[in-house]
Amino acid sequence: MNLKDLNIDNTWTLFLDRDGVINQRIIDGYVTRWEEFVFGPGVLEALNILSNLFGRLIIVTNQQGIGKGLMTDNDLFVIHYRLIEEVNKAGGRIDKIYYSPFLDEQKNPMRKPDIGMALLAEKDFPEITFSKSIMVGDSLSDMAFGKNVDMYTVFISDEELKEGFKKQIDYFSFHLLDFARKLH
Ligand SMILES: [Mg+2]
Repeated sequence: MNLKDLNIDNTWTLFLDRDGVINQRIIDGYVTRWEEFVFGPGVLEALNILSNLFGRLIIVTNQQGIGKGLMTDNDLFVIHYRLIEEVNKAGGRIDKIYYSPFLDEQKNPMRKPDIGMALLAEKDFPEITFSKSIMVGDSLSDMAFGKNVDMYTVFISDEELKEGFKKQIDYFSFHLLDFARKLH
């Protein structure tokens, strides 16, 4: 099925992973300061388009750099404050950012692929319907997170995936702007 056939309107919610979708991922590291945060090419334009299509835009991000003591909640708050400010300046919006500070081995329900952050968003925004939601991410844990609550999933990658992984992925896009243009 084509992404356009979903007929996205303001009753839909867009869930977005952060690192590798909104900003450039730091391989084997964490964005701990605003100075290290670099928007991906075309992301601000994409968020502008997507803000006009979706009723809600929500970021769900695992940030175990906090659990590892490499940064504080306040460091992350500053980064996210600036992130939203830049998105607004470019004409887009982010309604809320949920993050999980927990380590992988803590198996906390708030950490993707577990669904805690999705349930929290549904509680904060009762109009959210998961069957009318899309999760966009660049990792398989994002895809599992989306599928665990029956969202549509979009995998952002410029690489080919092994066949076995594809069942959790409904659509592929090269980057966020590519995805936005496919809906437009
Ligand atoms: Mg990611």
